[in-house]
Amino acid sequence: RRVTLASERELPAVTRGGRAITLLANVSTPDDAIAAVAAGAAGAGLVRTELPFLATTSWPTEADHMAALRPVLAPLVGRVATVRTLDFGGDKVPPFLSGQSLRGIALSLSAPGALAAQLRAIRLAGAGTSLRVMLPLVESAEQVHECRALLASPSTPLGAMIESPPAVAAVDEIAEAADFLSIGSNDLSASLLGLDRRDPRLNPGSAAEPVVLQAIAAVVAAGERHGKPVSLCGDAAADPSVVPLLIGLGCTVLSVAPSALDEVRTLVRNRL
Ligand code: PEP
Ligand code: MG
Repeated sequence: RRVTLASERELPAVTRGGRAITLLANVSTPDDAIAAVAAGAAGAGLVRTELPFLATTSWPTEADHMAALRPVLAPLVGRVATVRTLDFGGDKVPPFLSGQSLRGIALSLSAPGALAAQLRAIRLAGAGTSLRVMLPLVESAEQVHECRALLASPSTPLGAMIESPPAVAAVDEIAEAADFLSIGSNDLSASLLGLDRRDPRLNPGSAAEPVVLQAIAAVVAAGERHGKPVSLCGDAAADPSVVPLLIGLGCTVLSVAPSALDEVRTLVRNRL
């Protein structure tokens, strides 16, 4: 079975009815990036940058970010590399940030010097890739505008992750401010279902709950209204029971763990 799936790596992820799906990978390490390319990903739809810094005692410097990012992005030269800024907070809190309540891009914007340093490192380390910068847990258009000013690079696409009820409520303004949207179905499912990220009742299939599907549909519709690409990068994008629903809702870009690429491609190719 594995051999069969891997043999389709060169084939496009197109449904039998002719709907083309772009398959990207979620990447945290150099090995992830290498595996993603080997498994035929068009690039990375999510590069998580916080993992090397979960035990750090201060904001990482530009040099810290460069050292961590360079080996992750090297295998992605010539491909899409969607690098997400630090997503601290919630279930990922380094010691120096314990006790504060902000999360995601709101937390990074509370230390604009540190965020600017990461944005510089991303641009340098991403040279040669088709670089895109992505912001975690965006909840307002203003946050996108502030980050665009710090990025200071009009040619680098800047995207917003939509992964909470306030973000869904403000999705039109955010879609107008951003160059692309990406649905974080892990956090979006947890928050809409009122569950903690670590709650065992939560799983990739949770995105098939009507309330989550409705939110995903709203984000896809906002992207279409504003002419902005929408991708989905939570674990739901690799769940066989959810993928057909996502495609039916109009999701055309899915980003999954490198180990899931073969299975999702085969799933797409066998769907009408
Ligand atoms: C998500 O929330 O769906 C997501 C892709 O980001 P993370 O799992 O890193 O929070
Ligand atoms: Mg998330």
